[in-house]
Formats: sequence, C-alpha cells, structure tokens
Amino acid sequence: MTLRLFNTLTGQLDELVPSDGKALRMYACGPTVYDFGHIGNFRTFLQIDVLRRFLKLTGTSLRHVMNITDVDDRILHHAAAAGITIGEYSATFEQAFFEDLEALGIERPEFIPQATDHIPRMVELIQKLAAAGAAYQTEDGSWYFRLAAFPEYGKLSKKDLSGMEDGARVDLDEYEKDSARDFALWKAAKPGETSWETAIGRGRPGWHIECSAMAMEYLGESFDLHAGGEDLIFPHHENEIAQSESVTHKTFARHWMHVRFLLVDGRKMSKSEGNFYTLRDLLLKGYKASAIRLALISVPYRHQLNFTFDGLAEATNAIDRLRTFKQRLTSGSFAEGENPVLQAAAQQAQADYLAALSNDLNTAEARAPIFDLIRAANTATDQGQLLGGDRDAILTVLASFDAVFGVMEDRDAEPTRRALEWAEKAGRLGEVAPDLMVRQGLTDEAGIAMIEALVAERTLAKRQRNFARADQIRKELAEKGVVLEDSKDGVRWKRK
Ligand SMILES: [Zn+2]
Repeated sequence: MTLRLFNTLTGQLDELVPSDGKALRMYACGPTVYDFGHIGNFRTFLQIDVLRRFLKLTGTSLRHVMNITDVDDRILHHAAAAGITIGEYSATFEQAFFEDLEALGIERPEFIPQATDHIPRMVELIQKLAAAGAAYQTEDGSWYFRLAAFPEYGKLSKKDLSGMEDGARVDLDEYEKDSARDFALWKAAKPGETSWETAIGRGRPGWHIECSAMAMEYLGESFDLHAGGEDLIFPHHENEIAQSESVTHKTFARHWMHVRFLLVDGRKMSKSEGNFYTLRDLLLKGYKASAIRLALISVPYRHQLNFTFDGLAEATNAIDRLRTFKQRLTSGSFAEGENPVLQAAAQQAQADYLAALSNDLNTAEARAPIFDLIRAANTATDQGQLLGGDRDAILTVLASFDAVFGVMEDRDAEPTRRALEWAEKAGRLGEVAPDLMVRQGLTDEAGIAMIEALVAERTLAKRQRNFARADQIRKELAEKGVVLEDSKDGVRWKRK
C-alpha cells in the first residue's frame, strides 16, 4: 500500500516512497526550546507522528530527523533576562518538550540533533555559499544570503517576488510575508551575547541555516520528505531550499508536507484572546493525554481543526468506547468458530481504514469504519453471535488502528501525575481543576504528597508569622475540597 501525500512543492498528491529503496529519509523541523509547547505545536508533531506510524505499519523503514533549535533570537533574549546561559535556559524547555511528546504518545525520531552541536557544519555551508557567490558579509561581520543568486526563490510558497529590492536585508529569525529580503545566515556577536569563534568570524547562526546543515548531515544533499507546520513555508522552508540548493544544485527535499494551524473556539489561538493552551494547561484542567491526542489527530492534517472543549469531551467518550469494547473482547468467553458476517465486516473495516490513511492521511475517514465495526460487534455479542475467530479478527483490526492512533492502552495516569508534580513546583496548583485534585488525592500518593507539602508550608508560614500566606494556603486547599484542623498535635487535614 503506497501513501499518496499532498506535496506543497508540486501542489498535488504525490506518492511517497523511499527513493533509495531502503528507508524513507525525512526531516521535520523541531521545536525552538524557549517556552512550553502549545497545542498548535503539538498538532503538527502529532500529525507527523501519524505519518510516521502509518509508514511503519505499511512496512516502510524510516530515517527521521527532528532538530532541536537551542539558539535563536528568543532564547538569547529570555536567557539574558533570566541571567543564565542559553544552555541552562533551553535545557528546561527541552526536557519539558520530551515529557510532553511522551505524554501524547509521540514516537521519537531516529535522530534528534541539537543546533549548537552542529555549528562547524553551518559555518562550512556558509563558506560554500560565499564561494558560490550566494553569501556576503556586511561591515558588522554578519553574513547574509543573496536572494538574487537564487532565481527559483519562491517556488515552494509560490510567492511573487517581483518588486523585491535587491540587497535589502533582514536579520530577524522570523519575519513577515511581505519582506522577502536577503536573510541572515550568521549574526556577528553583540556584546554579552553567546557566540562562537569560527573561520567566518565570531557570532552565531541564523535559524534557517541550522536546518539545512543538520538535514544534509543526517540525510544527504537530497532526501525524500521535509515536514513542518504551515507557518514554516515562508520564510523558513523557502530559505532552507535556497541555501541548500545554491550549494548542491540538487533538489533539497522532493516532498514537502505542511500541517495546517488550528483554531480554538473558532478563533486564532493567542494569549491576548485568552484561548491559548499548552499541553500542561489541559492536563491540569483534568483532560486525559489520550483524549488530547485523539482530538488533535482526528481532523486530517490539511484541514483546519477547530479545537473546543466539546471536541475534547467527544474524544474522551470515543476512547472510553474503544477501551470498553476491547476489554469486552479480551475478557469475555466466546464459543469457537467464525461468523462469516463479522469476518467480512472485519476485513472491510481494515481495508477501508488503510485506504483512508493512504489517501493523504485522512484520519477522519479512517476512524469511521473502526467505530462501525465496534457497533456491529457489540450488537453481535449481545445476541451471542460473536465467536472466537471473530474476536481474533477484530482484535487484529483494533491493533492496526492503534498502531497509528495510539490511544487504546490506558497510559493516562502518568502524564497527569507529572503535570501535577510540575504545577506544584511551578507554583501553579491553583490552576488544577478541583475534581482532578480530589481524584488524584484519593487515588494517587502524589496528590497526597502535594497536599501535605502545602500543609507543611502553611505551618512554616505560621511559625514565621506570615499569616497572610498561611491564610492563602488554607483557602487554596479549601478550594480543592481539603479542610484543615489545627490541634495540639499539629495540623490534620481531611476531605470535605
Ligand atoms: Zn527547520
């Protein structure tokens, strides 16, 4: 079964197969680790995970690279503001990113290179660009890519670049659509900024050159697929093509996959709109990681997803149905034999499921036959018509569904526990949904430890005569349904 996937470069569905006949070589732009990932970021990583899992399910080996951008304008700015090194600053968010990937069941790519480990490769590439007349140095010591040296510039984003001013420059890592300009490859060191001493001067790389250098390092000069969020088409991916092809004169990536942005409650997600969510925000509200995963992958990657709490509730119910049904099959006892109607239904569901995914990863259409099969099998079980051979056939279909969707096994407790632990350290316990607190407190020792930590903090606050803080903690706990009783032997707590 061959996957037909939309290719931004050609503007059509193209077959995606390993050009070397062995492993599919793909590069997906990873995170810039300057903050916690939001659900829009994770929609992209999840849809790439769907691609990855589907390729594996259908027998394609992968050589998948995802970079970590651990130096850029924002990281430098935030680290300087916090008075720590960029390595110290980005390590926190890199670790958080991997925890979030794990929570969402996103598989790790084969290679996860960090930008700061590949500075010599970037310098080498800039030297080659300079030798080819496609890069030049400005008076301050920075290096820029000369757009005029690459007439095909704009072929990915289909931008009309007539009227572009030759020699106009931009040194920001991210910039607006109307500013196609010579862009920074290397930024000369500014006083106090992290920088590297290299053959092209002291400075640090621009964002775009990082991806070209790392993609070529792990995948060669020409590879099968490059993926990322739709916001990266311009300028980032356009710039990657220009830098790479100006040196190699080979097609950088044959296939380009871009995941569309999501809306939240019908509006663009933004902090100022109050509809901005990180994964952790949703976990603290009591939603399960598996439901967040399903909600973010159930709309195909090229369609705009409108993320809502109703949608999350729907995903929660769907997962309950899947897990309950599987439990019914695995724990029930069934007479031996096969029911031809159910055998045919299982076969059809499997074929429809694979056909939908192989058609541009249509996850919405792929879900439907699985839930139809569950309905039919539940009815047959109620009527005593589901037999042992049917159970086995249906479990096989469920396994192939879950190889891509990845939500059947209940691994939800750990991400929630970790999010609560994080909230406690980050002083954000006040954001935890009260029923989650109670649920965790009753069932999970971490919840109890958290309450006890607050109780201890309150005792200390009282001893230090900080009664305002002690009162505040009492209120916080009350909101979570915890009542304190002061006694001679110390403080006892109990649930309302
Ligand atoms: Zn990139």
